[in-house]
Amino acid sequence: MVASSAVQASGRVRALQPTVFSEFSALAARAGAVNLGQGFPDFDGPEVVREAAVAALRRGENQYAPGLGAPALRQAISEHARRFLGVTVDPDTEVVVTCGATEAIFDAVQGLVDPGDEVVAFEPVYDSYAASVAMAGGVLRPVTLQPPDTAVPRWWFDPAELEAAFGPRTRVVLLNTPHNPTGKVFTAPELEQVAGLARRWNAVAVVDEVYGHLVYDGVEHRSLAGLPGMAERTLTVSSGAKTFGFTGWKVGWAMGPRPLRDAVLQAHQYVTFAVPTPLQHAVAAALRLPDAYFVELQADYARRRGKLLGALDEAGLVPWAPEGAYFACVDVTGRGFANDDAFCRDLTTRVGVAAIPLSAFYVDRARAPCVARFAFCKADATLDEAARRLRATELRAGAG
Ligand code: PMP
Ligand code: GLN
Repeated sequence: MVASSAVQASGRVRALQPTVFSEFSALAARAGAVNLGQGFPDFDGPEVVREAAVAALRRGENQYAPGLGAPALRQAISEHARRFLGVTVDPDTEVVVTCGATEAIFDAVQGLVDPGDEVVAFEPVYDSYAASVAMAGGVLRPVTLQPPDTAVPRWWFDPAELEAAFGPRTRVVLLNTPHNPTGKVFTAPELEQVAGLARRWNAVAVVDEVYGHLVYDGVEHRSLAGLPGMAERTLTVSSGAKTFGFTGWKVGWAMGPRPLRDAVLQAHQYVTFAVPTPLQHAVAAALRLPDAYFVELQADYARRRGKLLGALDEAGLVPWAPEGAYFACVDVTGRGFANDDAFCRDLTTRVGVAAIPLSAFYVDRARAPCVARFAFCKADATLDEAARRLRATELRAGAG
């Protein structure tokens, strides 16, 4: 078929990179690789939550939900925020339910950023942030997260670089903690620096906390919204995807003071209008699970993390232990590959284990370190098979 020039995509979307997750999942499927690339569990979420979805379908909860979200879910989001984050959120005026955290971030950026406005974000930056900012005509101002080294054994940033990224055009600081892909959990002093600059430059903070329940080794996840003077300028975004293991449900939300909620809603009403009703009821039930569920979730992921870290170590790949989220990163320089993308393609097709190149999370890929990201939200059998393949094959360019 020959396409006429009339069907060419807009310049706005032509400028976007294809998302690395689809690319590597397709490559993994073609190569028959064990997929430690795209972050989704290959096991199911809790049965009681699935049953809640079935019950909602059977009850006839099958028409459009209100654009703001089903009242039962907004109430559950508010209770969960009080229980785990210590923040008070009015379910009627301060919550909007979206199609995953992805839509919440897109809507927040559309709702807050005018062309030419600047958005500060830590780099490596989750790929949808850069796309959301670009589609709004905003300008991304990346602040580099530096890999752990002998002086600082965790991902860190230079406070002067953060300070220099803010200015009179800063509209939003877009923060992700626990952080994908590095696994960094921002500390209280780091959050305080971000908060201080947001206050000084009168910027809004949009904080993506989708991995908020996944922290390890006694590290604590803190919400920026809980810091003094921040509730009034913070939108907190999350979803049911990671906490309950239902990435395919795409039920997310944004919460924050009414003017910010309204900015999100203004976009949301014309992006998706509403989110699948029965799944909203099921996520409401999930958010109300007893504390034991969240404690076990953490212990379960800590175990999977240990398994992956052990497998990488055994294969001679030296991982940085993540403080949160469900990814481990490995420096893969010195193995004869031109860059991390080449390493990950070789690993996927020759070794049979898919990982994601960190460079996909950089505005300027040439500035990225040579690092591969492995997901451990995977069944024991998957992690064991990956371990076996990694051990059995030399992880070097041109090997066998
Ligand atoms: N933010 C981050 C940091 C993520 O890693 C992901 C994806 N897994 C999302 C947002 C998307 O979440 P959702 O599936 O709820 O849209
Ligand atoms: N957030 C997931 C990851 O980082 C992928 C989600 C997606 O494919 N958009 O792997």
